[in-house]
Amino acid sequence: MTRLLTGKPMSDALAATLAPRVAKLSSRGIVPALAALQYRPDPSARFFVERIQRAGSRLGVRVLPQEATDVAELYATIERCNADPKTHGVTVLAPLPPAVDVAAVMERVDPRKDLEGLHPYNAGRLANGKPGFVPYTAEAILLLLRDSGVQLQGARAVVVGRSIVVGRPASLLLMYENATVTLAHRGTHDLTSLTREAQILVVAIGRPGFIDAGMVRPGAVVVDAGINATPDGVVGDVDFARVSSVASAITPVPGGVGSLTTMLLLRNAVTAAEQLS
Ligand code: NAP
Repeated sequence: MTRLLTGKPMSDALAATLAPRVAKLSSRGIVPALAALQYRPDPSARFFVERIQRAGSRLGVRVLPQEATDVAELYATIERCNADPKTHGVTVLAPLPPAVDVAAVMERVDPRKDLEGLHPYNAGRLANGKPGFVPYTAEAILLLLRDSGVQLQGARAVVVGRSIVVGRPASLLLMYENATVTLAHRGTHDLTSLTREAQILVVAIGRPGFIDAGMVRPGAVVVDAGINATPDGVVGDVDFARVSSVASAITPVPGGVGSLTTMLLLRNAVTAAEQLS
């Protein structure tokens, strides 16, 4: 029987740990606040902002949507957020203009307010194994694996996708758990042979249903970080129906990794508020 690794129970448990931290800040007159920056109106970014606003209002974390119409305005907004003592953190929502990458944008954010863990200061600390803000999707992947009791120590793990947002930090987090990790990308030869070796297979590539059952080792644990809007709804990077028949455990999409990320972002905002005040 294939186990479903769902994110909601852990998200609820995390929310319960945040409530007293928010209350303690509130007793000192501090309301944790994060700025959610959008570049031009975009339906998927608006959807994400509304989701964090709803979760934030339940917890007492203020979410401040900001919209920029050009890159200069985006950078000016970041400067204002950096300088504003009542804004404790910044997140920048995809999509960005094609010529601007998220790393370049996050480099302008005060690293103490870098809730995405993408500023070189935080990315460097992760690379050096030091505490700091960690990209929350990568952290969600690790937490789901840990929570499911999957043996990470000594496991053969393959991460497909090497973005700084998901695959690369996920591979570091797995390596710190003493898994033996291979990071695959478009330059990888014979991806199927590689993925079939994986006891733990993590996928973050942005290609709907790309990983099929033939690419998965029987009994593997499969974590799908993909979120792809298709005419049939939101699907992951893994062919869930087929891969479920060979994996021992798998994250659904939606309901897996993505259902934990909102709470981790809010948790980071609370941490930033604590550290800055
Ligand atoms: P990205 O920046 O576009 O990176 C995609 C990565 O996948 C790249 O490293 C690319 O390789 C690799 N790749 C693409 N096609 C491949 C193929 N055929 N074989 C092997 N590797 C391939 O994407 P991302 O930001 O990491 O996002 C990946 C997915 O995760 C998307 O579906 C996105 O929506 C989702 N996501 C989810 C969350 C969440 O909260 N759950 C957060 C962020 C992203 P190269 O480096 O060689 O180009």
